[in-house]
Amino acid sequence: MTHDPKTHNGTATDAGHPTRGASTTAVHGKDARRDEPYHALTTPILQSATFTFRDSDDVADYMARKYRGDGAGEREEYGRYGNPTVVEVERKLAALDGGEAAVLYPSGMAAVSSALLTMLSPGAHVVIGDDIYRHTYEFCTTFLKRFGVETTVVPMGDYDALEAAIIPRKTRLIVSESPTNPYGRVVDLVRLAEIGKRQRVRTFVDSTFATPVNQRPLEFGIDFVMHSATKFLAGHNDLLAGVVIGRADRMAALRESRGLLGGIVDPGAAYLLDRGLKTLGVRVRQQNESALALARFLEGHPAIERVWYPGLESHPEHAIARAQMSGFGGVVTFIVRGDRARTSAFIDRLRIPYIAPSLGGVESLIQQPALMSHFDLTPEERLAQGVPDNLVRFSTGIEDTADLLADFEQALAGG
Ligand SMILES: *Cc1c(COP(=O)(O)O)cnc(C)c1O
Repeated sequence: MTHDPKTHNGTATDAGHPTRGASTTAVHGKDARRDEPYHALTTPILQSATFTFRDSDDVADYMARKYRGDGAGEREEYGRYGNPTVVEVERKLAALDGGEAAVLYPSGMAAVSSALLTMLSPGAHVVIGDDIYRHTYEFCTTFLKRFGVETTVVPMGDYDALEAAIIPRKTRLIVSESPTNPYGRVVDLVRLAEIGKRQRVRTFVDSTFATPVNQRPLEFGIDFVMHSATKFLAGHNDLLAGVVIGRADRMAALRESRGLLGGIVDPGAAYLLDRGLKTLGVRVRQQNESALALARFLEGHPAIERVWYPGLESHPEHAIARAQMSGFGGVVTFIVRGDRARTSAFIDRLRIPYIAPSLGGVESLIQQPALMSHFDLTPEERLAQGVPDNLVRFSTGIEDTADLLADFEQALAGG
């Protein structure tokens, strides 16, 4: 499928409605008009662990259709296999990313681990980028290893190394991420998809930092897109969820394994996710705008050593980001001039952002990885992993841009 970034900004199409934008899809899902129970406008929380049958003939009819493979899935049987509230949100998420189907999980890591365990078996080989989410990295390199799955780590952005790492008939999956955490590295999705297709290896992209408002990897030929829905998709720092989106037959396999592994999201969390999604378009546009303004401000500030944001011309992959993204997301990473204590003092002077891990919600969050995610390492080990002590990651919320800029200005001046 060809991609025209010009039609992407706010008018990104979805599989169901070729003319609809991401915001419309995020509000309505695929069908704005349909008969809901009790004529409710909102999606009901179907708080039921199991689903009943009228009589034994109803059971027999359902089972016969289920095992023939036709028509099952139009009703639910037991909560671990599916739930109508969950299904509703899955349809919306699939439409947003332009995929045929989605499978929702109780966290982003449940989505990664369940999907990879389903797709891989002993003797298989996976290629991952060196800059992917820390726990996805750990899951591949240590957990999957125990089950006889080997992983090769390749430097982000080195497509020759990526292709060279593929072992014919053994490599099953390339796992990548774009943009990455914390440096916002951007993968050329067209190139990644081409390598996958040429080598007959499936491609899996964690698109959490982008959201389907800014980037839709399936349109570039990527096979699977994954999000930690905990972040921008839910958007309110009040739930955990994860999702994998792709071709219907492949998602059917994930749905089946989810029933076995047991990691299904609660209908209450699915409802909150659906509610959060309704404002995805406006939230992400505001976050794009504030993050870009902040990144530019920080880049010109004498107290800041360096800024990484894919929307800045100085970012090493800015050109790729421009070609495949319509906005550059809400995460800005930077290095403060000075040591670890000076950096902490700057963070402590900020009035608006909370100090917390996570990202993508309405509240701005800030963290110094040396004190949090990378605390257990020595300063030298941190540096070797590309995490200096004066590194800061800022996740833009939806506060007024001017207030965020003023807050940063006063906190930097106070040093
Ligand atoms: C947070 C995050 C995850 C893990 O998601 P959880 O919902 O916390 O399990 C995976 N990938 C990225 C890029 C993330 O930011």
